[in-house]
Amino acid sequence: MFNTRQGPRDLLRVVTGMDHSPQGTAGDMTVQQEAPTGGAGGTGEPLEVWIDQDLCTGDGICAQYAPEVFELDIDGLAYVKSADDELLQEVGASTPVPLPLLQDVVDSAKECPGDCIHVRRVSDGVEVFGPDAE
Ligand code: SF4
Repeated sequence: MFNTRQGPRDLLRVVTGMDHSPQGTAGDMTVQQEAPTGGAGGTGEPLEVWIDQDLCTGDGICAQYAPEVFELDIDGLAYVKSADDELLQEVGASTPVPLPLLQDVVDSAKECPGDCIHVRRVSDGVEVFGPDAE
């Protein structure tokens, strides 16, 4: 029997409440056990993202995936941007993840060769995508 319940889209659905599956809710329990989202349960909690520049390789993958959120500065490192397009260069600076861009941000975190893109819940700071996500 074919089962696709553990794909990244399911993880996204758990965090955001976005349901990309035509199969309804099949597999949700397993996904919730895997996704470190606590009681999010698909309520679409606000998320934010930050970059650990100490590990950034400067390849620019993130800026290609989500140029509205990430940008390379003249120092060759990637930074997050504010909603009004300002580069945030303070250490550990974070910016909200716009829901329409969440998939792009998550893909950036997954593809980041430096493992330095961190996506966390605003409410409790728990990382849901990135190197420190469980
Ligand atoms: S994908 Fe990661 S390593 Fe590459 S520029 Fe962006 S933050 Fe830096």
